[in-house]
This record gives sequence, C-alpha cells and structure tokens, in this order.
Amino acid sequence: MTRSQRARYIDPFQPAEVRRLVRQFGSPLLILDCERVRVQYRKLRAALPGVDLHYALKPMPHAAVVRTVLAEGGFLDLATTGEVHLVRRLGVTPDRCIHTHPIKRPQDIRNAVDFGVRTFVVDNPDEVRKFERLGDRVELLLRVSFRSPGAMCDLSRKFGCDPEDVLALARLAAELGIPVRGLSFHVGSQAADSAKHVEAILACAKLMSAGRKAKLGPLDTLDIGGGFPIDYAQPVQDIGRFCEPLREALAKLPKKVRVLAEPGRYIVGPAAIGVASVMGRARREGHWWYYLDDGLYGSYSGQLYDHARYPVEPLRDGEERLPSVLAGPTCDSIDVIAENLLLPKLEAGDLIVGRAMGAYTWASASEFNFFPKATVVAVNGTPGDAGTVMPFPL
Ligand SMILES: *Cc1c(COP(=O)(O)O)cnc(C)c1O
Repeated sequence: MTRSQRARYIDPFQPAEVRRLVRQFGSPLLILDCERVRVQYRKLRAALPGVDLHYALKPMPHAAVVRTVLAEGGFLDLATTGEVHLVRRLGVTPDRCIHTHPIKRPQDIRNAVDFGVRTFVVDNPDEVRKFERLGDRVELLLRVSFRSPGAMCDLSRKFGCDPEDVLALARLAAELGIPVRGLSFHVGSQAADSAKHVEAILACAKLMSAGRKAKLGPLDTLDIGGGFPIDYAQPVQDIGRFCEPLREALAKLPKKVRVLAEPGRYIVGPAAIGVASVMGRARREGHWWYYLDDGLYGSYSGQLYDHARYPVEPLRDGEERLPSVLAGPTCDSIDVIAENLLLPKLEAGDLIVGRAMGAYTWASASEFNFFPKATVVAVNGTPGDAGTVMPFPL
C-alpha cells in the first residue's frame, strides 16, 4: 500500500466521524476500524517472527475482521460449526483454518472436515476416538493444560489434559492411525505476564521430543494459543516486551517445528469503540444517573463475562464536572456500566464512547428486554476502498 492510499484512511474514532457514523447508522453502534486490526496484526507479527497467527473468531466473529486478517496473510482459528459456516460463506480456503475446540459433536467434526479443515484439537481419549475413521483426512493437536490461577480467565481448568497424560493420548491416536501433529495450549486470556506461556512452551518442547523418540507421530507443530494482553483502564506491558521471553523459549525448539498462535483479543480488542446514546437522566441521591441505549446486557457484557473495564467518556466537553453514573437501558438493577464518575452534565442524545471494545463485547451481548444489540459498522475495510466507510453485513 502506498503512502497516499494510507493517507486516505479516515480515523473513525475521531469525534466528528463518530457523530457522522451515528447519524448514518444509528445508536448503539460498535465502530470497528480495520486499519487498527491491521496495526494489531502487524505488531504481533513483529513480536513473534515466524509464528503463524490464527485469528480466533470467538471475541469478534465479524466478516470484516476475517477479511482483514486474511489480506494481511494471516490464518484463522475456528471453534464451532457457526464459525465454519461464516468463513465458508466468505470464500475462505480451508488450508487457512484450524479447528481448536477440544470437545465436539460428531456433526461439528463432519461439518469442518467437509469444509476441508485438517487440523483439530483433542484433550481426552473419547475425543480421539471420534476421529477413528478419519485418520487420512485429519491430524491432531493434543491440548495440554497448564493451570494459571492468576489469569483473569484460566482456560486450563475447563480444557486440556495433564502433561503426564500426553504421551498416552498420543499413543492411543497412533494406534487408531490418526496422525498426532503436535501440541497446543491456552494459558488464559489477558495474561498478566508471559511466564505461563514460557513454562508451557518449555514443557511442550520436552513432551514433543519424548513423543517423537517414541515414534508417536510427527509432533512437529506447537500451538501456543492466545492470551496476549491489551490496555483497558489499566495499561499492560507492550507486546514486544511481553513476547521477548516467548521468543527466547521458542528459539530452543528444533528448527523443523512449526509454531502457531491463536490471538483473539489482541487483534480485535483495541480496534473497536462502542458508542451509546443517553436515553434519559435522573438525579438520585446527589448523582446524575444517565441511562444509555447500551449496557451490561449488550456491548458492555464483557464487564461481566470477561471481567473487563472499558474506559468510558462522553463526547461532550465539560465545564463543570458532576458526580455521575452510567447505566444500561434494561429494567434490571445490575445493569450499571460505571459509577463514581465525574462527568459534564449530559443531555438526552449525548454520545458516550467506550474504548477497547472489540473483543468479547458485542460477541457476548444479548437482546434482553428487547434492546437490540449494537450495529457493527466496519470502516477502512478493503484496501482498494481506502477512505470510504464500509458497513459489512455479517
Ligand atoms: C478464546 C480462545 C482464543 C483467543 O484467546 P485470546 O485470549 O482472546 O487471545 C484462542 N484459542 C482458543 C482455543 C480459545 O478458546
């Protein structure tokens, strides 16, 4: 892309653009900036050279993100039949995709295999047996559990086999004629530091080498999962710094080992803002309560499920600051976004912007009380159309 093309990208997070997009597409809105997706992808790519990045669709299963990641030369990480349908509809080629849900119904496996996905993840003997007659069409990654009680979302409790059980699982697959391609793990999302990734990489390197010696499969692939952290209200380590110990650990693997990662949050989290409108206000016990058209049952659902805190601010500039509460639209009392804020006095129709709302927000929103989910508008979507605003239907 040339400099002049790049210069034609608009910044959809600028207040004037936000207002314009709300006029055009309504409120609540989730503004997804594909240029920021590109920036995130490139930063992680630079921090993990030689690692194939498979964008995990779960945090934001949107066509515009899928297309942007693919256009950057990236790959995808699918986990459900719905995600398989989405990428199939977009004309994605299956060699760009892996399937990483450790527990699948036979129909889910059939759907993914029919699409052409080859690499699947398992973590227990029953799941290995589901691939019994598919040995010539699939290869397996065995998901290993490395507990991280410190992580916000410890993904090694629900999934993954104990490191001691890996070789037995590989042996079962080998006996059934199913190639064991390697190992995978996910240490938990929004990791506080990279110690757990490093521990898991080193442990997997040993297990893979033992498995190769025992002739249990090629074991030449290591999938280091996701977990790469982003700034919310609290800033985190820069990604280059975060990945430095990972690079050192990965350098110890044999040259022939292919390494993949499954970043979700890191790719899409900073690439979207949520925009909500004030529906009405009331003064209660010395605080101004503002009721927005988006809340905890909508895009702010990540404050419950994902334990995230999104930085929120009104687009109105304020003279005097008053104690304020931002609440969601539903009749439920827990539907409060933020309290103890100091905000300028707002009026019905004023816009409130939430930052870093690309991951685990809209994806987990409901339509409780019949308040519709935010409309997603993707901007700067296709390189050829730089400078134009492009809403992508799902
Ligand atoms: C959710 C998930 C991811 C993405 O994790 P992030 O922490 O958002 O990067 C990757 N892989 C699997 C298997 C997941 O379940």
